[in-house]
Amino acid sequence: MKKFWEYISIRAEHALPTKRVMSLAMIFLAGFHLFLLFIFLGFQIFPMAVVDLVCVLLYVYCYCQLQNERKSLLFIFNLSYGAILLHAVIAVFLIGTNSGFRLYLIAMMPLGYYAAYNFNSRKQAVNPMLYVMLSVMAFVILQVISSYIAPVYSYGNPMIDRVIFSINYVVAVIFIVGFFSTLLNQIRILEDLREKQNKRLENLSKTDALTGLSNRWSVQERYSQSEVLMEGYSLILGDIDDFKAVNDTYGHNIGDEVLKGVAGAFKSAVRDGDTVCRWGGEEFLVFLPKCSKKDARYTAQRILENVRKMKTKSEEGEFFKVTMTLGVASYQEAEEFSEVVRIADERLYDGKQNGKNQVV
Ligand code: GH3
Ligand code: MG
Ligand code: MG
Repeated sequence: MKKFWEYISIRAEHALPTKRVMSLAMIFLAGFHLFLLFIFLGFQIFPMAVVDLVCVLLYVYCYCQLQNERKSLLFIFNLSYGAILLHAVIAVFLIGTNSGFRLYLIAMMPLGYYAAYNFNSRKQAVNPMLYVMLSVMAFVILQVISSYIAPVYSYGNPMIDRVIFSINYVVAVIFIVGFFSTLLNQIRILEDLREKQNKRLENLSKTDALTGLSNRWSVQERYSQSEVLMEGYSLILGDIDDFKAVNDTYGHNIGDEVLKGVAGAFKSAVRDGDTVCRWGGEEFLVFLPKCSKKDARYTAQRILENVRKMKTKSEEGEFFKVTMTLGVASYQEAEEFSEVVRIADERLYDGKQNGKNQVV
């Protein structure tokens, strides 16, 4: 019951697949026509009873076809749509408009849109207006004809007409609610999925695939947040020493392992609010908001220690170490972010000239 309520309140966790929706509709339609069959037998309106018997058999046939998937969903949909339309027309002819069977001609109109949404493919263009026009035409023709021709049968009591009208009204409402909730649940679930995928893509576009660190674009985005500009920042730019030799000696895969290890060494040395990014091949940049140059130097020193302590296993099973050179700069030294990066890079270069494995 809870699931049903969630479904018709457009809060379902899963959209029912089309085949399941149609199977449920066939069971419902067969059941409803069975009910009508007994009503018409009770009032001895035998032609209607025969029509309803045919409908019950038709919906059972459609249900079976759905289960063994021999006919296309669109074929079964069209067959049922035609049957509902024809039943409404015959019912109005035989027992008049007062019983409310023509309500179905309105209620079923949106079904064309359900078909267009679910069955449209490159091979098959489903135009919902075809379904709409069919129901409208049937409705208008019935309205005109029924004003000239009296119904063939009557229940013998206008009260019964009202009861049948009410039942038909409720069933027509079920049609409309079923249609909108199914379609809107489908749309909502697709939108949720799109939002999740967009988030994932956004994360991917901000992340370096090898190390899982931010990439340089996301650091620039972080910098452009105005509160950071107001409160100052520092930068650390680090470059692995003689990394080419690591690749040449141990191979590119082991080089990648070193990069991942260095990323870990950076992350464990910085504060929560700092952003570590892979700036380039074997260059790393830390963006430290609200951090003085002195504090940034301590952080850089911690990073250097972490890298020095790091051991990487080669394919032969022996352990080797790497070192790093880091340049520190802060926002007071230049106006532009790119200028501050350039200053840190110059210090990094000085460090490389002065023997590497140090913070400048
Ligand atoms: P220095 O101490 O002056 O920085 O010398 P270096 O050898 O580290 O500098 P260089 O810029 O000559 O070499 C950088 C190397 O980093 C070259 C390149 O193949 C390697 N590299 C860049 N990106 C990757 C990567 O994603 N994986 C691996 N394994 N190597 C990379
Ligand atoms: Mg290097
Ligand atoms: Mg380099």
